[in-house]
Amino acid sequence: MAKWIQSFEVPSTSGNGTYIVSQDRDGNFGCSCPQWRFKRRECKHVVKIKAQVQVVPRNYSRVTPTCVPGSVREVRKRDEDTLLVPLLPISDPHFLATVVVDLLIHGVEFFEIRHRYHLPSGAKRQDYIDHVLRYGRRIYCSLQQQDRSLETTHSWNLPEPFLPNEDLDAYHHRTGYPLDLITLALQRMPTATFEQATLTPTPLPPKPRAHKYGERRIIPSTMP
Ligand SMILES: [Zn+2]
Repeated sequence: MAKWIQSFEVPSTSGNGTYIVSQDRDGNFGCSCPQWRFKRRECKHVVKIKAQVQVVPRNYSRVTPTCVPGSVREVRKRDEDTLLVPLLPISDPHFLATVVVDLLIHGVEFFEIRHRYHLPSGAKRQDYIDHVLRYGRRIYCSLQQQDRSLETTHSWNLPEPFLPNEDLDAYHHRTGYPLDLITLALQRMPTATFEQATLTPTPLPPKPRAHKYGERRIIPSTMP
């Protein structure tokens, strides 16, 4: 049975819900969609996530991605240089805090976010992070334009997957994503739920593998 070390939510192309693409230690991918679960055939969700991990040589002066409005449930990477950002519901500070933190984790600097969303001059980066840690991430329930209802989730997404055998520092240096937020995201990865749906008779582990792996990998150097 594959041991998934990280997983990613991918919107279904029909716009109804999301599938979870997971990666194991050897770099193999699986998906929660029927095509992968029942036929073990590579699906478009896996292809999409794979495309995000193609190694692009980067130096430390990487360009901040451009933010464009999109019909998305939460901040998502469209390609190497562009982020899709959901439209903000009117006067919802919790949703705003989530977008701020999601942009930070994708490498957008706080001063740019402050400018973009006209945040109060006294607002601090850590305040938004603390808010989301405490209350969860506020996102849209669906991608349907007419459905603007919101939900709160406690799982965080990584902006892009780790490469096989890549450690936290290497990931940080390759991508430029902030170490503190990557660490937080790893501790709160969405659970790979599709193991239950496969035909393997092996009982489920008591805790999601991705969570355990993430904890073991990051705690020693980051705990105060
Ligand atoms: Zn799939």
